[in-house]
Amino acid sequence: MRGGGPRLPKHRLQKLGLVRLPRALHGFLPQPPPVWRRLQRLAEFQDGEHSRPRLVIQGEELRWRDPGPQAAEILVPGAGHWTKRWPAEHWITFLKALLEASPRPVEILGGPQEGDLAEELRRAAPDRVRTLCGELSLEESARRLVAGRRLLVGDTGLLHMADAAGVPGIALFGSTTRELGFFPAGPSLRVLERPEACRPCSHIGRDNCPEGHFRCMRDLSPQDVLAAYLDC
Ligand code: SF4
Repeated sequence: MRGGGPRLPKHRLQKLGLVRLPRALHGFLPQPPPVWRRLQRLAEFQDGEHSRPRLVIQGEELRWRDPGPQAAEILVPGAGHWTKRWPAEHWITFLKALLEASPRPVEILGGPQEGDLAEELRRAAPDRVRTLCGELSLEESARRLVAGRRLLVGDTGLLHMADAAGVPGIALFGSTTRELGFFPAGPSLRVLERPEACRPCSHIGRDNCPEGHFRCMRDLSPQDVLAAYLDC
């Protein structure tokens, strides 16, 4: 007879092993499935060549193609957990420098919970920065991503939609790592991350930094991120 205690899903146990054991051992541990496979309920991510996802909305595959000189820079500043979010002051510094470096309009995507930060970003240049946080359905967000020139995003569901559609850009990773299955599967998004030994400190993200310094995100400087972003 089996024990009566609660049982964790298999991939959650795999992730806990990756959080608790030293990184040197991670290559020997079973890896949980990539996150996009667990997002099938949110959008139709379909298996593609070499097991990369494809983004299919209502039977139509969305693929990024160079959308021309008027296409927007897309920023997604939110994430489900605090340790996955780049600090607000970095977003503001980044945006101000981006507005000088690129003549394109800027669109901010995300949920209503990003509203305050998005509004602060919009105020940096109301004639060029538009916030759509909390206004779009998932399908509409996917279409905005694909229509954009490039993307700066954290570890969020929109990252995986952009990844599946081949949108170029930069993905910022803090407390979560490749081994946990959160990284993009395709080549269009370049990951920026820090080598802190404390990563990962959680299998999904946390509400604060247990070390107190939050170097995994704070040390991703806006200047370095902008240089990488403009290269995309
Ligand atoms: S700096 Fe280290 S401990 Fe702090 S949130 Fe990042 S990974 Fe976790």
